[in-house]
Amino acid sequence: MSILDLVPLPTWRDIVDILFLAIVAYQLYVWFRGTRALRVLIGLVVLGGVYSLAKLWGLFLTTWVFQILWQVLVILLLILFQSEIRQVLEKVSPLRFLRSRRRVSSGALAKDLAEVVFDLAREGTGAIIVLERDNNPSEFLSAGQTIMALPDPVLIKSIFNHHAPAHDGAIILSQGRLTQMGCILPLSERENIPEQYGTRHRAALGLSERTDAVCIVVSEERGEVSTVVGGEIINQETPKVLASRLNDWLSIPEIPGPTFQGFLKGAFVQNWGPKLGALILVTLAWLILASQQEVKTNIIAQIRYSNLPSELVLDKSSTQAVRLTLSGRRHSIKALGNQEIRVQVGVGKLSAGTHTIRLSAKNVDLPLGIVIDQVIPQDVEVVLKSQAVASPPI
Ligand code: ATP
Ligand code: MG
Repeated sequence: MSILDLVPLPTWRDIVDILFLAIVAYQLYVWFRGTRALRVLIGLVVLGGVYSLAKLWGLFLTTWVFQILWQVLVILLLILFQSEIRQVLEKVSPLRFLRSRRRVSSGALAKDLAEVVFDLAREGTGAIIVLERDNNPSEFLSAGQTIMALPDPVLIKSIFNHHAPAHDGAIILSQGRLTQMGCILPLSERENIPEQYGTRHRAALGLSERTDAVCIVVSEERGEVSTVVGGEIINQETPKVLASRLNDWLSIPEIPGPTFQGFLKGAFVQNWGPKLGALILVTLAWLILASQQEVKTNIIAQIRYSNLPSELVLDKSSTQAVRLTLSGRRHSIKALGNQEIRVQVGVGKLSAGTHTIRLSAKNVDLPLGIVIDQVIPQDVEVVLKSQAVASPPI
């Protein structure tokens, strides 16, 4: 048997199956990208691969250990990554679209904020301003005081004034309102952050890795303004450029009218690397699992009566063929091909008369790895007559 015999030929259903799962795998990657959970997700995929191989090769001890660990691991991951899972589920929810439509016009706000942060930078006052977008950051914030005010430049400057009691931490802007001040953000756990960035930048980075918020950071040490979005720190040179960037980030994205070309580009060209990766991964998983998958098939098999005593003849039989339901691994069933399967019924020990014979797996000679699930009809009735009665000598 060559290795190609073990590779199952996909049916159109299998192709739909593979494509659908590849899309799901790619979407999961996109949603979890930038979160701590992605590394764990990749680890899980690798473990799943090892488990499938161990099962395929019949390594029963490894399979057993994996089966036990698996249950514990799933519960552990649900507890550890509950916030990431919640964020991803929020992204999948259709209500998200209703929420994002409520963003307020950002033009004037972007301009005011750009000016105020460059003023703070000139004065050497450190600051973090968090602009909430679709994700609610509240679960990642600690400490802080709730306020509800218009984001007036003078108010922002007075909050970050060194002498003000709540100048440490971040202020949060949501729906065009200043809602919180003095908030502590979660620090990023990344290891490759440039040295000049301390805890203030690390805090903004941490929040941007967990939510889609736009963070503006003013460095007290260097008098610089940076934006931190999606885990990326960008130095901003002028208030004008910053205002335009903020406007892009805060405004509701214009949805271009659908075109066929746009659809093809979006589906196949954009981000093709991860898409191809997801397809290869799912195809590999399918190949491993499909070769192990048990499939069923129905065949019609002719009955052959054997060892008929010489003095008897078979006068009647209730059926000449039966329907067999067979199951086995895909490649074994495939190898069955057009092979003729016969049902052997030994009548050597029977005497003349009517007999009911129950058929079972013993009556069928099948290749290794294939078993019989059902025989229909299960009982055949045969009538044996002695030669003399059946054909009287002329
Ligand atoms: P700078 O360039 O202004 O020096 P930095 O990135 O080097 O900033 P630090 O020098 O460590 O950072 O700045 C400390 C200040 O950062 C604190 O006084 C506090 O206001 C702010 N900060 C530190 N950690 C957090 C946090 N987790 N959340 C919000 N703000 C924080
Ligand atoms: Mg510093």
